[in-house]
Amino acid sequence: MRPLAPDRTELALPDGKPPLTPQQAAVEANRCLGCTEAPCIRACPTSIDIPGFIRRIATGNVRGAARVILDANIFGQGCARVCPVEVLCVGDCVYNHLDLPPIQIGKLQRYATDAAAEAGWSFYTAGADTGRSVGLIGAGPASLAAAHRLRRFGHRVTIYDRREVVGGLHTTGVAPYKMPAADAVAEAERVLAIGGVELALGVAVPAALGWEALLARHDALFLGFGLGADSVLALPGAGLPGVEGAVDFIERMKLGQVDLSAVRRAVVVGGGNTAMDAVRELAGLGVPDVTLAYRGDEAGMSGYAHEWAAAKQLGVRGRFRVAPVGFAGDARVEGLRVQAMDAAKRPIPGTEETLGADLVLLAIGQARLDALVAGLPGVETAGGRIVTDAAGRTGHPRVFAGGDCRNGGREVVNAVAEGRDAAVAMHELLGSLSEVR
Ligand code: SF4
Repeated sequence: MRPLAPDRTELALPDGKPPLTPQQAAVEANRCLGCTEAPCIRACPTSIDIPGFIRRIATGNVRGAARVILDANIFGQGCARVCPVEVLCVGDCVYNHLDLPPIQIGKLQRYATDAAAEAGWSFYTAGADTGRSVGLIGAGPASLAAAHRLRRFGHRVTIYDRREVVGGLHTTGVAPYKMPAADAVAEAERVLAIGGVELALGVAVPAALGWEALLARHDALFLGFGLGADSVLALPGAGLPGVEGAVDFIERMKLGQVDLSAVRRAVVVGGGNTAMDAVRELAGLGVPDVTLAYRGDEAGMSGYAHEWAAAKQLGVRGRFRVAPVGFAGDARVEGLRVQAMDAAKRPIPGTEETLGADLVLLAIGQARLDALVAGLPGVETAGGRIVTDAAGRTGHPRVFAGGDCRNGGREVVNAVAEGRDAAVAMHELLGSLSEVR
């Protein structure tokens, strides 16, 4: 695995949600009502027993709390920091209906799982070898969660990824003020510490290693390769230096260095959560003038409202009902050419203007990688997503899928749940009699 650069640009962004002290954790844990029909559990895609782990923190059993979390979600430490808890567990806490602050579930989860990481508590061991083998494509949370569960069942696993680092988008795409790359890699390494996981990094599937060879090598395959490159705008000036995809920019900033010293004005195109991350990151890294440009209304953006509110607090401005028509500049980009849109998102003639910018990031989606599976008979796609049943089974009896390539691009916690559950389905297929410890 390639080590991370020590001088990564992301390190300039401080932790946006500092951890709780033991005193704060105790006070907060004791506020939890321990609801029997806990809506917070229902809101968690991995169904963590939230009142159960909070009760353990309240009684001083932090190790037990960590175990409860990790039993359901082996990425419980990272999810504590990167989950949009405002629209998941915290958003459904009963305190919201009492006009009182909801329980800080994410921070309590971080408190317990950070303690487990610092103390080196390990709860899981690999099962007795079944002699069966699974190949997992992609080293992100879906594959890692599946691999961990498969190792508990005793199956042999090999993870293939075209990158030289583990963690997938958890490592390369999460906003650094939520979780820096080094912490994501460290968490992935703790997942891998169960042992027996073979890593084949720097291997592009199927270009370097085809499906036929993989199916011959393994009893089952898990597709967890995420999404592809940033979508581009085929408009005049799109090739100018200073125009780039937001996901690519964020990865460069997280794994290495980006030079923003000459960037006074930046425009991010899009209204989703990648756009929200990009504007917050640019503002946090000191770009004085950051604008988000979106073709619809402010209320119609798909990005989380709390993320946009946080961006505005950093001074980010929004330009709504504007659509890109080109990029201004000669040697490098000097601005984004836009045209106003009416309420029905139709362009209004004669309204073109230039939003001055030294950097334009495109956060308009990522390419779907469904074409990759063309050589896998029985594996179907719809809308760019790999079609599966609820357990992750594709139309090929030995191929399963989970994470962004299946769900189109959701949260880390969704990828973990899909990987974990697909591992159970794979275990059934493999016909092992090993028990989960
Ligand atoms: Fe505790 Fe809130 Fe969950 Fe109830 S809904 S168990 S108060 S965290």
